[in-house]
Amino acid sequence: MPNNDIEKSEITVADWSESTTGLCPVCLASVPATLFREKDQIYLRQQCVRHGDSTALIASDAEEYLRLRTYVPPRVSGGCCCGPGDSCDIGKPPTCILILEITNACNLACPTCYADAHGHEFMSLDEVRSRLDMFFSKQPLLDVLMLSGGEPTIHPQFIELLDIVLNYPVNRVLINTNGLRIAQSDTLLSQLSIRRRRIELYLSLSSFNPETHKRLYGKDLLVQKAAAFDAAERGKLFVNVVATVESGVNDSELGSLFRFCLSKPNINGLILQPAMNNGRYRNEYDPLTRTTLTGAITNLCDQSEGALIPKDFVGLPCSHPDCAALTYGFLDSERKVLTPLPRHLDVARYIDLFSDRISFHGMLQSAVARLWEGIKCGQGLSSLRDIWRVLSLPGLCSLLPLIGRQDQLGSRIFRVVVKPFMDAHTYDSRRTDQCCTRMIDNAGNTVSFCDYNIFQRGSKAGNAAIPLPMLRK
Ligand code: SF4
Ligand code: SF4
Repeated sequence: MPNNDIEKSEITVADWSESTTGLCPVCLASVPATLFREKDQIYLRQQCVRHGDSTALIASDAEEYLRLRTYVPPRVSGGCCCGPGDSCDIGKPPTCILILEITNACNLACPTCYADAHGHEFMSLDEVRSRLDMFFSKQPLLDVLMLSGGEPTIHPQFIELLDIVLNYPVNRVLINTNGLRIAQSDTLLSQLSIRRRRIELYLSLSSFNPETHKRLYGKDLLVQKAAAFDAAERGKLFVNVVATVESGVNDSELGSLFRFCLSKPNINGLILQPAMNNGRYRNEYDPLTRTTLTGAITNLCDQSEGALIPKDFVGLPCSHPDCAALTYGFLDSERKVLTPLPRHLDVARYIDLFSDRISFHGMLQSAVARLWEGIKCGQGLSSLRDIWRVLSLPGLCSLLPLIGRQDQLGSRIFRVVVKPFMDAHTYDSRRTDQCCTRMIDNAGNTVSFCDYNIFQRGSKAGNAAIPLPMLRK
């Protein structure tokens, strides 16, 4: 039921608010909604004529929430990120991350699984080709393609499928995995290792506490997760640690997760995903005390022993500003000290580097193009000065000889991304309008991952047609 724990009389719109379209968490009807500031926090109130009002916490730090929004350039044509005078595909942002769910089967049964994975179907190789052909007939390049599921590595033709995907113009292929199969199969590990230059693992690890594992994964997986990380290190696979963050459950472990990442030479990133009430999420969920984007940043910074501060994070400009925040940094050769780029660079001048670029490889390509553009426009000197200032920071000059050596440079680069997917309580239709993280159906249409999670889960994986327009009532 909608929550009315916070009565209207208690929340008065302070000095900031925005109108949007949300969802009633009971009937999923499109309803008028208001984002508003109340003291130090941002809330979303959705108003359903049939089921009443419901309120969800959107940001636990209003100042940070509003600061992160300043990095996103004004949109044109209702959602494009190209900027004035330019345009993407009919006003839509390009897809930065295309998610291909290749199975609804899994070797785990996590109670928090947003995909509700419990099936036995696997996408055929022909279907993979067909969907990607249709996608690339509309968009020539893709920064990231994510193979997901269920558990993608248990697909019986996983390596053949991976090779098909790698033949398309994709910067990086991410494999969204629980790691169990990689720890179990030396054959799989060596096959992945051969292809390691264009793949990264998105390997889930949310806690070092056995009881928290039981809550999040259904059982204690500490031994299996450790074996998976050891295997990935042996295979020299690039890894991002993906943590689901639940308020009061594991939000005190973000510092430990960060330090764990730095302790492994092949871990390049920490991805924090506030828990969402989708799929078969079975734990208690309170929309008023949930972990938010700014809450995850605050907790991580507070627990990072001074390594990170909130201002190291910038909004990702290619999607809606509420959809992601990130920081990129360089590590010293011991991987003990992180130098976050936004702390030393006027990020506002270089924000386009982050646009449509989740992968660092993609960002480097953008950086070269950006520098060249600056030189052509007579701004090269200031661009070079900025870059020189960054490289003059203690220890960073040692990075220069590593340019072109992907392995060594890779172990010196680290990113933290906070990605708050939406559920019906937190839904803001403007975010899906500007969405750059999309699924593709068997007719070649793409749909926002959030819309898919909220409206479409339960469809048959692998061959489900996703009707568009979406099922908004
Ligand atoms: S959350 Fe991931 S590992 Fe867990 S059941 Fe779902 S797909 Fe499998
Ligand atoms: S998937 Fe959701 S959170 Fe991510 S960009 Fe799209 S609308 Fe935003």
